[in-house]
Amino acid sequence: MMNFFPKVCIGCGTISHGPFCEECYQKWITNQFHIQRYLSQKGDEIIACCRYKPIGGKIIRGFKYARRFDLLPLIADAFSHAIAEVWSTPFTCIIPVPQSIRKMFSRGFHPVEMIGTHVSKMTSIPMDSRILRRKIACFDRDQASLRKIHRMKNLTEAFYSIKTNSWAQQANILLFDDVATTGTTLNRCKEAIQKNFPDWHIHLLVFAHG
Ligand SMILES: [Zn+2]
Repeated sequence: MMNFFPKVCIGCGTISHGPFCEECYQKWITNQFHIQRYLSQKGDEIIACCRYKPIGGKIIRGFKYARRFDLLPLIADAFSHAIAEVWSTPFTCIIPVPQSIRKMFSRGFHPVEMIGTHVSKMTSIPMDSRILRRKIACFDRDQASLRKIHRMKNLTEAFYSIKTNSWAQQANILLFDDVATTGTTLNRCKEAIQKNFPDWHIHLLVFAHG
């Protein structure tokens, strides 16, 4: 079915031809898209393409919840730029943070993996979405209401990796997600991978931080 709704700018809400109006696009290019590194609470270095406020969150929420797939090239482009700018050693592969089966079913798509597919095409770095997995946990649907300490435990147990013989002992991995606040999810994923592949170098990248 055709979509008859006109597009609106993700930044200011005015009618626009693309995901941004001209003014908001200029703002994005000149100061909001800003590759930065920061240390998470766990001491991991995380690279982010922009801050969650005022724009990063709008972009990700627009893509994930309002299904603004026209934002996908912009997000993938930011990731590709970050990869080219920050790291000089080539990556063996990129690995997306897995989402829960429940979210996969309710959304009908996997936003982070979808970003990864685009990034993989743009950078020619293969994506592996099988090695890192998420457990089907009965806690999962109550994630938001769990107390902090329970949530930490829940996350600890939520991810695991699959050991395969076809994988090299040494690899340079880029683990990525859409958003990071404390960086706990990325840290858990990194630990889950390193449990089976202790010698792998794992670097962390997100679209928005905050
Ligand atoms: Zn605008």
